[in-house]
Amino acid sequence: MTIDLDDLRFYRGIHALEPEEDLPAIFELAVPRFLGMCEKLGLKSTLFSIAEDLRWPEAVSSLRSAAASGHEIASHSSTHRYELSRRSADFMKAETAGSRHALEDATGSAVTGFRGPGYNLSDGLLAALKDAGYEYDSSVLASPAYWAARAAVIGWMRLTGRKSSSITGRGRDFCRGRLPFVWPARLGGLREFPITSGGLGWMPLIGTTLAAGGAMSRHIARCANRLPFVNVEFHALDFMDIDIDRLDPRLRVEPALRIPLADRTSAFETALQSLADGRRPALLRDLSAINPLEPGFR
Ligand SMILES: [Zn+2]
Repeated sequence: MTIDLDDLRFYRGIHALEPEEDLPAIFELAVPRFLGMCEKLGLKSTLFSIAEDLRWPEAVSSLRSAAASGHEIASHSSTHRYELSRRSADFMKAETAGSRHALEDATGSAVTGFRGPGYNLSDGLLAALKDAGYEYDSSVLASPAYWAARAAVIGWMRLTGRKSSSITGRGRDFCRGRLPFVWPARLGGLREFPITSGGLGWMPLIGTTLAAGGAMSRHIARCANRLPFVNVEFHALDFMDIDIDRLDPRLRVEPALRIPLADRTSAFETALQSLADGRRPALLRDLSAINPLEPGFR
């Protein structure tokens, strides 16, 4: 199980809303709720964290205490630029090696994994990750349905004269053969842990699709249940609520925020209990250290 700690400012950028006061709300509100759910279910998670958020003391103490309770800290880059995969080698180095060192220094925990902003990858970015000493990547989201939906939103915004900070990305990265069904996979010399997708259009196993509960999330969870390896992805936003947390109502454009927090959390717990049933939950860093060719590995 993984969570990307994307601050609200990135969603405002995606939907071309003007910036708001810079507050560590996700670390004060979302992360404690998420960790509370993990504790209730007896699960540990990988927290993909953005290094520039370490400027907030609340972020440092939140990540340190998560690491002390057995969760994993991994990198979600230094500044979460959606176009990171297209930038120069020097920029990529600052975002990969730089974030790794900053997160390790601040949390005292080894950082061996990376997830790219917006699931965007390139050969250059994979090479930068390898040079920076990462052992695994978990950026692949093999979901043509997700890619098509994102491209449609960005295209519509462009037509209506608004510019999203997100990018469409390369469609082929979201149609990577049957990678999600073959584990372990390697990509660019690193162990790759794709985010699980399944069912019609390869719907992604993420907070947004699980939040609604009902037939679609049951279908995705049922398809995922047949796979030998399952990698669920949440976002900090999945644990925020427009009314309870007094967020800008315009953020309701994010589908998960249209559902009350209590209903979402209950849908997450039901899905996670079913996915964890009969499995051995593990942190990505521990899985990346295992040699799958060893006898007895399954
Ligand atoms: Zn992100």
